[in-house]
Amino acid sequence: MAKSFLIDTTLCTGCRGCQVACKQWHDLPAEPTQNMGSFQNPQDLSFTTYKLVRMQEQVVGNKLRWLFFPEQCRHCIDAPCEATAGEPTAIFTDPMTGAVLYTAITKELPAEEIIESCPYNIPRMAPDGTLAKCDMCQDRVENGLLPACVKTCPTGAMNFGERDEVVEMANKHLMMARKKFKDANLIDVDTIRVIYLVAHKPELYHDFAMASNAEIGITRHMALQRMFRPFKRAGAQLMRG
Ligand code: SF4
Ligand code: SF4
Ligand code: SF4
Repeated sequence: MAKSFLIDTTLCTGCRGCQVACKQWHDLPAEPTQNMGSFQNPQDLSFTTYKLVRMQEQVVGNKLRWLFFPEQCRHCIDAPCEATAGEPTAIFTDPMTGAVLYTAITKELPAEEIIESCPYNIPRMAPDGTLAKCDMCQDRVENGLLPACVKTCPTGAMNFGERDEVVEMANKHLMMARKKFKDANLIDVDTIRVIYLVAHKPELYHDFAMASNAEIGITRHMALQRMFRPFKRAGAQLMRG
């Protein structure tokens, strides 16, 4: 069975170790940044930033909460970006790990269409038109190592393994989280391989935290319909808790 992540945001301290480890393993350059009034840096994903710890200050139940959301590609089980590309030499799913992988041939694809098809707004384009995003550290995983971001996380917020085990772990973490946070939930658990556990409503963390919350154009809307067609009822039950 292919792999999955559990990112338990209730355990995340916003240290950004995962963000740095991702850059280091992929030998990606730092980005020029500026103070935008938040500790989040840089401000968005890019062609050279596959992992970004998003930070939001939100008032929840009369308390100021600092919400961390370590963002990356969700490695969708039926990936809309792959379906939109329709070109397996450019975007394909690795059958062993379930990683959705991009190659240099993405340069020949209609980049805007691929980007718009992603319900989580993940792929980013280089100046030459090549698309990039998190690759699940496929080279590490194939060699029995954990993804760099998981390996480096000091709090246990990031977890990785066989999908059935990760889903079981996610449900256990959810039960624990619900004791403290009444709105705790798992995001889009049936359709993606990067399962987020959030303590509060997903939209408080990030506009694209949950696929169905995304501001959507026609292509993204079609991608959502495709992703959720077989799971609509189960997903609705899950989000009601
Ligand atoms: Fe593709 Fe977006 Fe899904 Fe990643 S999150 S596999 S980029 S559709
Ligand atoms: Fe980066 Fe690898 Fe983690 Fe993806 S799995 S965010 S590529 S470190
Ligand atoms: Fe959060 Fe772990 Fe990333 Fe630190 S390394 S920001 S604790 S997910």
